[in-house]
Amino acid sequence: MKIGIIGLGLIGGCLGLDFRSQAYKVLGVSRQQSTCDIAVEKGVVDESSTSLELLATADLIFICTPIHLLVPTLEKLTPYLKPQAIVTDVGSVKGAIVANCSRLWPNFVGGHPMAGKTEQGINAAQLGLFVNTPYLITPLESTPHFAVKILTEIVEKLGCQIYYSSPEEHDRAVAWISHLPVMISTSLIQACAEEQDLNIRQLAENLASSGFRDTSRVGGGNPELGLMMAKYNRQALLISLTNYRQNLDEIIDYIAGEKWQELEKILVSSNQYRDNFIQ
Ligand code: NAP
Repeated sequence: MKIGIIGLGLIGGCLGLDFRSQAYKVLGVSRQQSTCDIAVEKGVVDESSTSLELLATADLIFICTPIHLLVPTLEKLTPYLKPQAIVTDVGSVKGAIVANCSRLWPNFVGGHPMAGKTEQGINAAQLGLFVNTPYLITPLESTPHFAVKILTEIVEKLGCQIYYSSPEEHDRAVAWISHLPVMISTSLIQACAEEQDLNIRQLAENLASSGFRDTSRVGGGNPELGLMMAKYNRQALLISLTNYRQNLDEIIDYIAGEKWQELEKILVSSNQYRDNFIQ
């Protein structure tokens, strides 16, 4: 099986390293020649090119470009594909992507590895990023079973836990646990940066430690990715943000009104409920 990867950045690079470590032949395409050269040097791919033609012999292709380029990239790729080739993507949103890609290529299966890092680009790629992380596969009713089966078998080799859902269910679920946290974390950093007393702001910057590192990590990540999440999952994200604002208002109300029992109740309940998300 020959694997193709388009977009040799963080996710594409990590996939390449993992697949090559399992002796798959990996062909990589990226926009810049310098990235293609680094990918070969780092052992991310066996061969690389800036031309999609390189993927004419690939059996399974992962499109790992920024979200807004996923559909246009598949459009340019189809003339080169073998008839049985399977194409998947790793985009963080699925509704807008899967419907369009499935129209362009019947053997398209949407996917989303739920792993990441603050850094981006080929130099941030590392072995084993996906081990013990969820990988959601989002077939449509029309998606061929053989394509879902092959993608599942390959992704299992990354050490992922596989889940299946419709693209729409995916978008609603990730709005809660991925896209909402990016916006909350961003507003946290912004609010801290707006402290008007420079001495206090400097002291806070000096004192920030593991708690701030954890809560600010996703807000300090790839700005382009955050923007794309908001643009392409706008509706579900707005519902989550509105609900979050209501919760925040409640907390403000409890503290302002010294309603310590109510505050304690939600602190206890979130302490317990967090385990449902983080095992
Ligand atoms: P990234 O590190 O910026 O990598 C994207 C790469 O795509 C860039 O390095 C760029 O390579 C390449 N590229 C840009 N335009 C291209 C084109 N027209 N043709 C071919 N390659 C092109 O971003 P990423 O974090 O890996 O994200 C990539 C995808 O993964 C996104 O769709 C995102 O939704 C998804 N994803 C990200 C995360 C995360 O946490 N980062 C997690 C799960 C899924 P050059 O260097 O050649 O310009």
